[in-house]
Parts: sequence; structure tokens; C-alpha cells
Amino acid sequence: MVDVDSWKVFLRCPKCGLENEVYLSEIKKGKTIQCIVCATKITLKDKNGDVAKGLKQVQDVVDSLEKTVKKIGGRLKIK
Ligand SMILES: [Zn+2]
Repeated sequence: MVDVDSWKVFLRCPKCGLENEVYLSEIKKGKTIQCIVCATKITLKDKNGDVAKGLKQVQDVVDSLEKTVKKIGGRLKIK
């Protein structure tokens, strides 16, 4: 099963501009991460739960696509 929570996002550090990799699930949880270069703390905010909502929608679509692909004997691979 494809789990969209484990998809990654690149978030630019406000201080040094480096792109830090975070999981969408970490944004959903509002985790605080630390920039791997300058150690600036970045709080991941899911304003109005928009990320959670978007993820749910994408998960539903992916789930239904997986079912369709399964019907023709295939397996969905998203990379
Ligand atoms: Zn940084």
C-alpha cells in the first residue's frame, strides 16, 4: 500500500536557505525540526489542517487507483 504520509517535502530554511527534507506526516504532527546546516529550529505548522486535509484527499485517490491497478493484475509503485 502506498502511504502518502511518508512522502517527503523540501522545506527551505529561513536562515541559510538550505532545503531540509521532511515527511508530510511530520508537518501534520506540527513537529519542530532543526536545519541540518545551521541548526535553526523550524516549526512545521499545518495551518487550518490544510496539509492533513490534502493528504487525506490524495490518499483516497491513490487508494482507488491502487484498486484499479490491482484489477488488471498490477501493483502501483510511486517513487
Ligand atoms: Zn539553515
